[in-house]
Amino acid sequence: MARLGRALPWAAAAAAALAAAWAWQHYELGSLLTLDQLKASRDALQARVQAQPVLTAALFFALYVAAAALSIPGAVILTLAAGALFGLGWGLLLVSFASSLGALLAFLAARYLLRDAIQARFGKALAPINEGVRKDGTLYLLTLRLVPVFPFWLINLLMGLTPMGAARFYGVSQLGMLVGTGVYVNAGTQLAAIRSPGDILSPGLLGSFVLLGLFPLLAKAGVGWLERRKVYAKWRKPKAFDRNLVVIGAGAGGLVSAYIAAAVKAKVTLVEGHKMGGDCLNFGCVPSKALIRSAKMARQLKKAHELGMADAAGRVDFAAVMQRVHRVIADIEPHDSVERYAGLGVEVLQGHARITSPWTVDVTRADGTTQTLSTKAIVIAAGASPFVPPIPGLKEAGCLTSDTVWGLTELPRRLVVLGGGPIGSELAQSFARLGSAVTQVEMAPRIMVREDPEVSELVAASLRADGVKVLTGHQAVRVEVVNGEKRLVAQHGMGTEAREVVIPFDALLCAVGRSPRVTGYGLEALGIPLTPRKTIETNAFLQTRYPNIYAVGDVAGPFQFTHTAAHQAWYAAVNALFGRFRRFKADYSVIPWATFTDPEVARVGLSETEAKEQGIAFEVTRYGIDDLDRAIADGTAHGFVKVLTVPGKDRILGVTIVGEHAGDLLAEYVLAMKHGLGLNKILGTIHTYPTLAEANKYAAGEWKRAHAPQGLLKWVARYHAWERG
Ligand SMILES: Cc1cc2nc3c(=O)[nH]c(=O)nc-3n(C[C@H](O)[C@H](O)[C@H](O)COP(=O)(O)OP(=O)(O)OC[C@H]3O[C@@H](n4cnc5c(N)ncnc54)[C@H](O)[C@@H]3O)c2cc1C
Repeated sequence: MARLGRALPWAAAAAAALAAAWAWQHYELGSLLTLDQLKASRDALQARVQAQPVLTAALFFALYVAAAALSIPGAVILTLAAGALFGLGWGLLLVSFASSLGALLAFLAARYLLRDAIQARFGKALAPINEGVRKDGTLYLLTLRLVPVFPFWLINLLMGLTPMGAARFYGVSQLGMLVGTGVYVNAGTQLAAIRSPGDILSPGLLGSFVLLGLFPLLAKAGVGWLERRKVYAKWRKPKAFDRNLVVIGAGAGGLVSAYIAAAVKAKVTLVEGHKMGGDCLNFGCVPSKALIRSAKMARQLKKAHELGMADAAGRVDFAAVMQRVHRVIADIEPHDSVERYAGLGVEVLQGHARITSPWTVDVTRADGTTQTLSTKAIVIAAGASPFVPPIPGLKEAGCLTSDTVWGLTELPRRLVVLGGGPIGSELAQSFARLGSAVTQVEMAPRIMVREDPEVSELVAASLRADGVKVLTGHQAVRVEVVNGEKRLVAQHGMGTEAREVVIPFDALLCAVGRSPRVTGYGLEALGIPLTPRKTIETNAFLQTRYPNIYAVGDVAGPFQFTHTAAHQAWYAAVNALFGRFRRFKADYSVIPWATFTDPEVARVGLSETEAKEQGIAFEVTRYGIDDLDRAIADGTAHGFVKVLTVPGKDRILGVTIVGEHAGDLLAEYVLAMKHGLGLNKILGTIHTYPTLAEANKYAAGEWKRAHAPQGLLKWVARYHAWERG
């Protein structure tokens, strides 16, 4: 069916071209595509129209469609001819449909012949255009069509390369070209009076067309302005403001927003209701990485005999491990402290912030006192909190989350980790290495579903090797307490195959996702909308429904990483403070991330699965880290570097690295992607021997070998043979 759909436009184009070729020959129409020729042949052609009106109309229609579809210049003369031969009414009808149909065929030809290649080659550069066409394509096309000076054929071809739908293209084209077509067909009825096609568009008429063309864009700007006014209408704006910026939340997003504002000498207040540093420092990245370090050491000690150590088996003192975790937090704390930020010029207030109008924020301190701040702009960086699913019995039995797990002082003997994402996998492996009997329960058919299946398999195998019982395809249905023993009941399989699996536990850690904090601080009263993912809805400039209120980090999405929160914070702060001069769109084109399991998993750009889903053509190059000298020497010879490139080119579409220090190794590819450097450039860079980073160069080398010019090399071999005599 899809094939038939694709074939139809070609069949129609071929039929129109054949009919047009015949008409071209029969009526010597080639000679008509100049104004003089049209004038000279007008009487003879009119006689033919009178003799055979239906046939000539049909042939004229086919000719017009073919000329438009094949982008043959002469649309103006043909449109004048329509007026001269068929009069205003019929002429307009014929040209309106013929030009729209021809335009559609040219559009489809560009789409099927060129679009994939052009998007694959220039996809990154075209991304903003694609986005603009998706959002405002109708307006742009309407403007281009209303002003008849933009070349008709060029618009058809260029639009075919964009994501615009064919039906929308046809409809907007027909509507937009109607007025211009009418002017030319009408001029055709007065053919004798026209000296050149340029005469038709007098400066006055051209000006009218330009105004008409600008109308949709001006209307859009006007509607936007009215909407903004409407949004603010019910609020009273203060005459003056105490501050330029108030930032809510002192996590990664809030700290960076406040830092930027202070650096450019704005008056900024940062409000934190709990701990400075937010989740990353207190409950997230920092404690988890500190725990991972201890867990890794426990594992290394167990395996120490492999490196020649006779009796290094170390006993885990879990309380000491957790003390170290808190020491690490304390060591990093000064980076995010009130003192440091006050020193940088930020006013830091400890208390709960509540937005009371688009320009005022109330801060309630622990002692119950409240201070009202007035501000030109607000950045919301309120973060996210662990999501605890409504599983019957879970609340009663109690569960740990990433907020509370750091309070443990005793190692749980049997731990259930609910969730197979990055946080669940990191913590499951760590607790298993420290001595817990860990069962990891994941509903999906595999853990780490965001990555390619082979990555999930490698990580799952490694978790199993550490003693984690990985149960995928298991849905937690209830928690029960039987004879004082806590048990998670999970369902495995579907329909008649479904069976219940009972997992006894001492502690259950819930790591099934994190919900953005969007309640309790005024969003509801302001009517700030949320996305379907329950993050605060923002535009590309990170503005909410109120253009002076911005949102960044976990509360805004689409990513939940410290580095993306910090990245967005820069854009939000700069837009909030200097938006009247220039605004910047947050740039998500090259976003890296890593999961710190052992082996680590790091990725930037597309995975193989994503490229397939999005229909993006790619080649895969793999380099196995089991072959890398340094990894062999270190006893970490496992994992791979997988690079996706544009077919036949060294341009990188995405990289996944699985292995020791994958998160660090990825940096070279992140830089390459960000600055458009291909694999040839990586291959041409000297990498220190022996390092893990050489894996990047060897992956580039694999690509080069696969793309060696075999034909040329045959001749080079002959040359060497000749040299040997
Ligand atoms: C276990 C775990 C491991 C992680 N590991 C990594 C990792 O390795 N790498 C990585 O990039 N990311 C990691 N993350 C994610 C990372 O921690 C978050 O993406 C990051 O902290 C988001 O920063 P944020 O500024 O958006 O929010 P947060 O850091 O959550 O900060 C929000 C702050 O706002 C405050 N707040 C909220 N509402 C109010 C209010 N009304 N008034 C005053 N204050 C308020 C909160 O108290 C909080 O301190 C991890 C997360 C977890 C849970």
